Amino acid sequence: MSRILIVEDEDRIATFVDKGLRAAGYATERASRGDEALELARSIEFDLVLLDVGLPVMDGFAVLRALRGSGNRVPVIMLTAHSSLDDTVRGLDGGADDYIPKPFRFDELLARVRVRMRDAQPEPAASTTLAYGGVSLDLRSRRAQVDGTGVVELSAREFALAEEFLRHPDQVLSREQLLSRIWGYDYDPGSNIVDVYVRYLRAKLGAGRIETVRGMGYRLVG
Ligand code: CA
Repeated sequence: MSRILIVEDEDRIATFVDKGLRAAGYATERASRGDEALELARSIEFDLVLLDVGLPVMDGFAVLRALRGSGNRVPVIMLTAHSSLDDTVRGLDGGADDYIPKPFRFDELLARVRVRMRDAQPEPAASTTLAYGGVSLDLRSRRAQVDGTGVVELSAREFALAEEFLRHPDQVLSREQLLSRIWGYDYDPGSNIVDVYVRYLRAKLGAGRIETVRGMGYRLVG
């Protein structure tokens, strides 16, 4: 299992990223301070570090410098507070592999994480397809199939939602869970976007596959 270190001092964001990455099958550790992150990176071998720039005392750039200075080549994705060109250039010059401007959506983050993981080591073939009750998703080609028939075209957001359901088959997923995992922590919790996208998915995958569980959320059924 790939191991990811999340370095983020804002608890809300750290929790959001942590939960999402665990649900996507990664092992995670968290650090809220730079020195703590370096300590962890010294004792545990990580496959990837998500590194916030704005950390108290020792900022993300200093952590990155210290990591690289000690010869640690772990892939690093910087989380920049704004899409400031300055931050980006400094990060990439300092040896970061990629950066994600805040605010970001979870699916954007996951896509970047997957790219880095693929660069570092090929994923085992078994983990590239998710299937349940006649629906299958190919995570590599980003294609869906229903009942072994032709390919069903899904938009990026529809695919992310379908993936979330297939990773938790037969479980009730609340609107809030789906909203935060797929649309991000900055999305308006009163939005009905989840319901809208569930409708799109039902139209494409079959109306009976996603059940409405009154007052609770939605469930993928077999
Ligand atoms: Ca921060």
